[in-house]
Amino acid sequence: MSKILFKNGIVVNSSKSKKLDLLVSGEKIIKVAPKIKETSDMEVIDCKGKYLFPGFIDGHTHFDLSVAGTTTIDNFESGTKAAVSGGTTTIIDYGTQYKGETLEEGLKNWLKKAKDGVSCDYGVHMSISDWNEKAKEQVSLMIKEGVTSFKLYTTYDIKLEDKDLFEAMQEISKHGGITGVHCENDGMIAALRSEVRIEDNNKVKMHPLTRPDVAEAESVNKIVYYTENSGCPYIAVHVTNKKALDELKIAKDKKLPVYVETCPQYLYFDDSVYNGKFESASKFVCAPPIRKKSDSEYLWKGIKSGLVDIISTDHCSFTMKQKELGKDDFRKIPGGVNLVEYRGILLFDAVMKKKIKLEDMARVLSENPSYLFGLYDKKGFLKKGYDADIVIINPKKKTKLSIKNQVSKSDYCLFEGKTVNGNIENVFLRGQKIVESGKVVNEKKGMYLKRKKYKKI
Ligand SMILES: [Zn+2]
Repeated sequence: MSKILFKNGIVVNSSKSKKLDLLVSGEKIIKVAPKIKETSDMEVIDCKGKYLFPGFIDGHTHFDLSVAGTTTIDNFESGTKAAVSGGTTTIIDYGTQYKGETLEEGLKNWLKKAKDGVSCDYGVHMSISDWNEKAKEQVSLMIKEGVTSFKLYTTYDIKLEDKDLFEAMQEISKHGGITGVHCENDGMIAALRSEVRIEDNNKVKMHPLTRPDVAEAESVNKIVYYTENSGCPYIAVHVTNKKALDELKIAKDKKLPVYVETCPQYLYFDDSVYNGKFESASKFVCAPPIRKKSDSEYLWKGIKSGLVDIISTDHCSFTMKQKELGKDDFRKIPGGVNLVEYRGILLFDAVMKKKIKLEDMARVLSENPSYLFGLYDKKGFLKKGYDADIVIINPKKKTKLSIKNQVSKSDYCLFEGKTVNGNIENVFLRGQKIVESGKVVNEKKGMYLKRKKYKKI
């Protein structure tokens, strides 16, 4: 079996980063030690001055998803290729059980989307939009099939009413599952969106005003109480603001099984992006919306303090032409942003700027997602016995973020022209080199992951 020795690099994990050698045989890491003697059967990669991270896990993607009368431009094929180019070696996509379907059918339909090949390993969460006896019965089946995480919505047409939401959480809890919940108060949003004056229909700046932070915080608060009563572990997905985060802090202080996810769009931008011309403002339309500068600063503090557990992307990408579906009515703009390939290097840049530590980065991108999404037996750590998913970052180089280098099929880049510190040079997926000098060189090597039950962080 082919062996690769990664020499002299700094191996990053959440407790302490150290200069260590790392030996891979086939798909697995077989040894990590201060000095590993090289033998003639090894390929040697000198990583002096570079950082070795465990492959990043993105627990929140939407590939090949129908939204607002159109379909995301990235499917599993292009989306996972974009993911690996940015060091993400595992994604977990939100599969959906639509109305009238069983959970089993929802899962089957989702797995078909990967039929043309995927470039990173992948799992599926199950979004439940139709809660009934059959769905209740199939929660345990999903978990047996390795779909150990679910998603529930409090808004959109796939939302569950309170009774169904609570019952679903009870059932998921009973079988050792975990659920992400999209939290926004549906009634409040519906009222605010119906009050918009006709002359304001084409103004994107109405988007954040009609989905305010309090609508999110109120809904988060409700789900925290559902967690307290059902015992169901809850991931507050894409948390955007201080008020919601404060609710979650209270829950965490009470030692409830509550976890916090945020995404780069809420860390790197503020709501001024919604002012100005449609062409620029519509690119940033996502739900919940991007908030105030003070909110993003609060989120950064939350990463440092450990309040934020994971950073995912909520990648849900469109072209400008698709965004134009809402040119005359901001409510019809397909919501979502294109980030799956940028998350790793953006956070590394934050490390270089001393906003967070190297160890924080390993925690929120690899280790915590590995626990929450049941991958802790093979992914998220650079340790003996784990999959050889390895990201090599050169801190001396820089990366220019631009549509010119973009792998996603979207035709714009939210960070156009921005130069960040560090460069993701090489990426390995289960021992195979899939990215070399920043370019994807080996496609469609990803495989489906049956996941274990979540582990408490
Ligand atoms: Zn999402």
